[in-house]
Amino acid sequence: MAKKATRKPARSAVKTARKTATASKTSAKKAARPAAKTASRSAGKYVYLFGRKTDGNGGMKPLLGGKGANLAEMCRIGLPVPPGFTVTTDVCTYYYANKRTYPAALRAQMQAGIAAIEQQTKKKFGDLKNPLLVSVRSGARDSMPGMMDTILNLGLNDDTVEALAAKTGNARFAWDCYRRFVQMYGDVVLGVQKRPDEDHEPFETVIERLKHERYHADIEDTKLTVADLQELVIRFKALVKDRAGKAFPASPWDQLMGAMGAVFGSWMNDRAIVYRRKYNIPSEWGTAVNVQAMVYGNTGDESGSGVAFTRNPANGNKEFYGEFLINAQGEDVVAGVRTPEPVAELRRQMPAAYKELDRIRQVLERHFKDVQDFEFTIEDGVVYMLQTRNGKRTAMAALKFSMDMFKERLIDWQTAVMRNPADQLEQLLAPVFDAEDVAASGAIATGLPAGPGAASGQIYLNAERAVTAAEKGEKVLLVRVETSPEDLRGMIAAEGILTARGGVSSHAALVARQMGKVCVCGAAAVEVDYGARTVTVEGRTFKEGDWMSIDGTAGTVYAGQLKTAPSEIIAGLIDGNKAAQATEKFKSFQQLMKWCSQASRMSVRTNADTPEQTANAIAFGAVGIGLCRTEHMFFEGDRIDAMREMILAETLEARKAALAKLLPYQREDFAGIFRVLKGYPATIRFLDPPLHEFLPHTKEQQADLAKKIRVPSERIHQRVEQLHEFNPMLGFRGCRLGIGYPEISAMQARAVFEAAAIVQKEGIKVKPEIMIPLVGFKRELDLQIEVVHQAAREVQAEQKVKLNYMVGTMIEVPRGALTADEVAQSAEFFSFGTNDLTQTALGMSRDDSGSFLPHYAELEIVKKNPFATIDQSGVGQLVELAVTRGRQTKKDLKLGICGEHGGDPASIQFFEKVGLDYVSCSPFRVPVARLAAAQASLSAKAGK
Ligand code: PEP
Ligand code: MG
Repeated sequence: MAKKATRKPARSAVKTARKTATASKTSAKKAARPAAKTASRSAGKYVYLFGRKTDGNGGMKPLLGGKGANLAEMCRIGLPVPPGFTVTTDVCTYYYANKRTYPAALRAQMQAGIAAIEQQTKKKFGDLKNPLLVSVRSGARDSMPGMMDTILNLGLNDDTVEALAAKTGNARFAWDCYRRFVQMYGDVVLGVQKRPDEDHEPFETVIERLKHERYHADIEDTKLTVADLQELVIRFKALVKDRAGKAFPASPWDQLMGAMGAVFGSWMNDRAIVYRRKYNIPSEWGTAVNVQAMVYGNTGDESGSGVAFTRNPANGNKEFYGEFLINAQGEDVVAGVRTPEPVAELRRQMPAAYKELDRIRQVLERHFKDVQDFEFTIEDGVVYMLQTRNGKRTAMAALKFSMDMFKERLIDWQTAVMRNPADQLEQLLAPVFDAEDVAASGAIATGLPAGPGAASGQIYLNAERAVTAAEKGEKVLLVRVETSPEDLRGMIAAEGILTARGGVSSHAALVARQMGKVCVCGAAAVEVDYGARTVTVEGRTFKEGDWMSIDGTAGTVYAGQLKTAPSEIIAGLIDGNKAAQATEKFKSFQQLMKWCSQASRMSVRTNADTPEQTANAIAFGAVGIGLCRTEHMFFEGDRIDAMREMILAETLEARKAALAKLLPYQREDFAGIFRVLKGYPATIRFLDPPLHEFLPHTKEQQADLAKKIRVPSERIHQRVEQLHEFNPMLGFRGCRLGIGYPEISAMQARAVFEAAAIVQKEGIKVKPEIMIPLVGFKRELDLQIEVVHQAAREVQAEQKVKLNYMVGTMIEVPRGALTADEVAQSAEFFSFGTNDLTQTALGMSRDDSGSFLPHYAELEIVKKNPFATIDQSGVGQLVELAVTRGRQTKKDLKLGICGEHGGDPASIQFFEKVGLDYVSCSPFRVPVARLAAAQASLSAKAGK
């Protein structure tokens, strides 16, 4: 039995559409990158050098990965980059295609690569006088922060550590490097990791234990002595032996090959797979491996490591933004284990290094013409660049960056449009906390504002329990000391993320920003007790399941559930709030939308059934209704009784009498909509759902109706039974209803035309477009068109008006698409009902597919939910074919889409390509569709 909900867009599809809307990689973003240079790629070349001699460039991301390509590019523009080489993504592909082995030529090329590093650094790999240490890092085409593996200080063993100590005269530094290396290598390559029953990393547990044994306190890592570090190395090795069952490798080359294998292996680890699925990164891309001379941020107080953005990626402000840790290696900053200091502090602590970094910041923006997120190390006062990439940003920051960079003439307006990811735009429309409620509650803790927005939720302290709670429908706030990549699933499930430690470039902050999640991190007053599953703030204890609220724009934490208020954009557009309209955010948004109109070939309409929905959509810039589902109008107030009476009627007369009661309601609804539209077209779809959806199904409802319409309850029961269908979505619905009962269509047509006549007489233009659903045969359409024309003739004569209307059809069953040339002989327009078209083409129920589609996605049978993003190679063919055949018959046949896909950026890209005239989507999705349509047009013009 089809539920009433079946008539609305499949709910799971909408949910998924929203989820994917948060932060996936759009082709728009790709197009926004600097023009790719011609990649000089030679067969059999697996290793690309960078440094004094640089083989690659920034345009070679597919081959060298994002990190490798940009390291090469930074060398080319003269920035200080430690020398190294990139092992290409082709090797990753080879590795998986050949049972995890390498091409024969690789080893020699890597040896040449190491030799090139040795020559430039004057150090030697494995040397007992001046040992070269390297880092080994992954680097996919699109960055996947924290998802894959990194190993630092590779090349150390019991002998080279002594050589390093002697050479630098700094034993503490050498042993610090060694204990870090054994820890990282043990974790990443040898798999010594947190077990499901452990809350802490095993190596960290060893460190904590030693600190407590020797100091009875949780002292900072930098306070550990040489003897402590030496003891840690011994204990770490014992841990490795115990858990991995083998000794730690001493040969630098064995270490290097092992590390490379681990990086390639990490491409297929669980969290990388989850991440790729979320951001639609194809698994075929593979990762590159970067081997680079180490520079050391942990040699003392003149050294440090940091992560910085050329502008603020949370709110978009033009300020040098980032953080650093003195006497630390890069991993310490990103891992969120220590809370770093803001980069502005560096100006005071190391003025020369700060000046150099600020210079680099400007060089980067001028060269890449986009905000960069970069990693640096200061070794004894000298700055080195380890990475740069386009910075992940919130929707708010993306908007501000694009506006500011346009004003600064760094980019043109078209690029500014491309710089705003369409599927993130909804973040700007998300609610904020109600100001009064905030004032009344008062913040209980403050942290760093890492992901803007307002979120309330029931707290959970681990990812697994957060996912379970979210699956039960709870709103979840994930609270952690710090997050690590293993928490990804929990972060996806949560409304917001709160961490006690970690800075604005910690893993939590980075991932949250990209996903558009609200995030407050480094809220030191928040004490998390994993064992007791409690959070204590200023003496107040919260248990798992208790409510807390976080404001990721202000960085504040509240007890309980706060009320929310609409964002400035909603307040400005929908409520006409003047203060909201004066904000920079509102003005920038309007400017962006103006550019979108300038750029788009397709227009954007809305799916709306009420004047209020229509008004909202118009405020967002919709230029008409693409789908008015008239059946929704029959559920309000007493109308359902008249509807039921109509369905239960046994004679034509009785049916007509019931329909006559419905007519005035419909007329009023249509008139209201026409008035709001002020001349914009309205596509009105005739009754579509199976009739039994309107009937009362419980005994009580049936008895109640029987009394109201004065028929025996038994008769109602019988009729309900009679109308029962095994497959209602393939049953007596759509145009089949209007063909079976032409008087229903006649009533609906009359209501439309009478409303049109009334509103037209008020001096408002009216453009009704009557749409017949579920047409598979031209004859079905012809029969309905005749009913519509008859009503139009009658009303025009009665009202003495001339009405301007069209009659067209939905293309939502494969036969309709296949015979589009015939259907177009009668139809004045087509609108693709891609919800039903997907359902019928795939033979997959739009309402029941939730039970198997997630599994299908895991197995990569489907790459994305086909009810959210159009299945281009399958359903897309039907759309393309119908467009071609329809336009063969009628050159200027108007074509639109009104399924859920009309609000999905990836699908909109496809609709642009096949040449539709408009897309139609729900009112609050209109801005997203406008942006996606503009980007699709701009990409098409640029030939992408
Ligand atoms: C469709 O099938 O795509 C459509 C828009 O109609 P409905 O969702 O009402 O079936
Ligand atoms: Mg449909």
